[in-house]
Amino acid sequence: MISRRRFIQTLAGIAPILGGAGLCLTLPSWERLLFGDPAGSLLALDTSDDRVRLAPRARFWRPLTPGGGDAHPSPLPAEGRGKRRPEAGSIQCLLCSQGCVIAVGRRGRCRTRMNVAGELRSLVWGRPVTVHIDPIEKKPFYHYLPGAAAFSLATTGCPLSCQFCQNWEISQASPEDYRVPLVPPAAITEKARALEAPVIAFTYNEPTVFTEYMIDIAREAKMLGIRSVLVSCGIMNEVPLAELCGVLGAIKIDLKGYDEGFYRNVCGAKLKPVLRSIRQIARSDTHLEIVNLVVPTLNDSEPMLRGLAEWVFAEVGPDIPLHFSRFHPDYRLRNLPPTPVATLELAREMAMDRGMRHVYVGNVPDHPGNHTYCPSCRRVVIRRTGFFVQEMNIKSGRCTFCRSPIAGVWG
Ligand code: SF4
Repeated sequence: MISRRRFIQTLAGIAPILGGAGLCLTLPSWERLLFGDPAGSLLALDTSDDRVRLAPRARFWRPLTPGGGDAHPSPLPAEGRGKRRPEAGSIQCLLCSQGCVIAVGRRGRCRTRMNVAGELRSLVWGRPVTVHIDPIEKKPFYHYLPGAAAFSLATTGCPLSCQFCQNWEISQASPEDYRVPLVPPAAITEKARALEAPVIAFTYNEPTVFTEYMIDIAREAKMLGIRSVLVSCGIMNEVPLAELCGVLGAIKIDLKGYDEGFYRNVCGAKLKPVLRSIRQIARSDTHLEIVNLVVPTLNDSEPMLRGLAEWVFAEVGPDIPLHFSRFHPDYRLRNLPPTPVATLELAREMAMDRGMRHVYVGNVPDHPGNHTYCPSCRRVVIRRTGFFVQEMNIKSGRCTFCRSPIAGVWG
């Protein structure tokens, strides 16, 4: 279990992995981060740039015009993505449900996948821009190895454009906004092992965009006995998700709101693919937790919160941990107040009334809704202060008071 003191000591050991020079965000990029860039139009990188030259061939795409090689056949139809004929050499990225059609020299909506002469390349393979040790509770995972130190990393890029994003400096950035060395998967896993982190977490931006890197790291980590977890919006397609489930121990999905309009207007995405991913993970052997960030006036209506809890209960069952987290004003929604604690408490109450067994209030330190309760005897089986575990009353997956099983991965 990671203590506060160990947590602070470990942070000091991380800087050298990115060359010790820290990160550099180029000044003009801030302007673009704030005011946006039309999706799929980035041209700042040309093929002579090292970030493109050294970028490996991506997986999960297909050519749309004759002549290219298919990197991953998929049942997704090309129709319905616009009526214009694709330009010669165009390809379709099949990694996520945005399904970007990308002309030669252009990039997809996430800015991290580029069509280089008819071949899709990953510009973020081996390019982590931030690395930290976090308590696993910060992700949050509450039913997966409580107290574990998670060696956490992210690249730039995201297929979404959530107006409330709390990591927008990297999620809405482009690979060329940060100067970082190439960090091979073995360097990540070796560092995690040296720091005695039992878990590697892919987090902060949307890790779907670096799926190939993630899979390579998770495979290496597995051989060293280190487990890997993913924090995701759940937008990836079925084929890559199946592969991820094969190498990851746990996935946390941000179910951002139970409403297509909210996804479309606030996140620039669709709800349906996220629901499909949640079902797919629940059917796999990978541990699943779900988080709903409750944003005042946008996704906090009683019908929306109730609908979300009912869907989770009906589709993935009462034992999946469900977190209702507090929004703090950020990025393009600085005008909104933080979520009232009473709203989070109401959401938790509605979900528990519906039959969910483990419902949490997130981002409210020291709230009773941070603890894990035994669904049978109602005693506290994990007591938390902030992101730290203070008391653990689960042994061999059972409540130490009444011996009832508690759903989760405990060791
Ligand atoms: S990962 Fe998604 S957003 Fe990025 S290029 Fe592929 S389909 Fe587009």
